[in-house]
Amino acid sequence: MLPDIHVILAIGSFFTMNEFDLIRRYFTRATTAAVLGVGDDAALIQVSDGNVLAVSTDMLVNGTHFLPDADPFLLGHKTLAVNLSDMAAMGANPRWATLAIALPNVNEAWLGKFSAGFFALADQHGVELIGGDTTRGPLNLCVTIMGEVPHGKALLRSGAQAGDEIWVSGRLGDAALALAHLQGRAVLSGTEFAACAQALHQPQPRVALGLALRGVANSVIDISDGLLADLGHILEASEVGAQIDLMKIPASLPVSNNFNQPLGLQCVLAGGDDYELCFTAPVARHAEVLRISAKLDLRLTCIGEIVAWQGCIVHDAAGKPLKLESSGYDHFR
Ligand code: ADP
Ligand code: MG
Repeated sequence: MLPDIHVILAIGSFFTMNEFDLIRRYFTRATTAAVLGVGDDAALIQVSDGNVLAVSTDMLVNGTHFLPDADPFLLGHKTLAVNLSDMAAMGANPRWATLAIALPNVNEAWLGKFSAGFFALADQHGVELIGGDTTRGPLNLCVTIMGEVPHGKALLRSGAQAGDEIWVSGRLGDAALALAHLQGRAVLSGTEFAACAQALHQPQPRVALGLALRGVANSVIDISDGLLADLGHILEASEVGAQIDLMKIPASLPVSNNFNQPLGLQCVLAGGDDYELCFTAPVARHAEVLRISAKLDLRLTCIGEIVAWQGCIVHDAAGKPLKLESSGYDHFR
């Protein structure tokens, strides 16, 4: 808790409700995993022996990463979820987060729901909010997440080996198809939209999978910009290539029903926002990966293999290579 002296310091604050009351009411909770949490000039954390700190930042901008009328509870969830996904992709155990938030005004109903969504997911993963920054401005949400991973055990993009199998968790394309529906580029029935919308609004970060893949996977990435773009980062970092089978990519019915159209292909190959993991593992670990899948009750699907030549070929249902135009979302293109 912040001491009362902060009330005096709040003169000249941006907000009707002062900035420090806002932080105290919506973003301050007792911390146990941190040496010092919210309230001083910096938080203090102690990394456990034998571990290194994994640090990652993801920013969500109104209009770019979410629609202006996004449900605040789900937005709070997603703001943390996309960051947890990066911890998952490193095989790191998420522990601490900071939240920098710009708000156009103080809307207490909105703040209450946003922080409830944020903390509900934080609690599920044992993550503590230990600091941040609060300012007036166009709605913008930026989390820095910190986690622990035993020295030398982090799952990197650069470890893929020719002959590795390529796996993905969950199913791909739902988030992109739900977004296409909301933007009027696709027409889904109520049931179809319901089947896809959770991936867009409430992605489930695959933290447990990331931890289970330590010592099993050779390379891992989370799919935030689309399968081909993100797998492409593994291929580039590992200096290898890939071939994948379109028909093996796990997709919901509304997505796979569109496989013969540009939209379906775009969703599954280039659609962002699914936050599933894509990883490569030696063929010898195939059974181990399936055991992890059963244990976590999470679908893991082998969709292709890493090859020694550079490039990425996607085979269609007839086994022919697809001609691909866009490979993913790029903010500057
Ligand atoms: P400073 O002026 O030193 O930058 P601030 O006044 O911005 O400090 O913040 C006061 C305390 O509140 C700090 O501990 C900071 O980390 C924390 N804080 C500010 N905004 C947030 C937020 N949105 N969520 C969590 N903690 C926050
Ligand atoms: Mg500050």
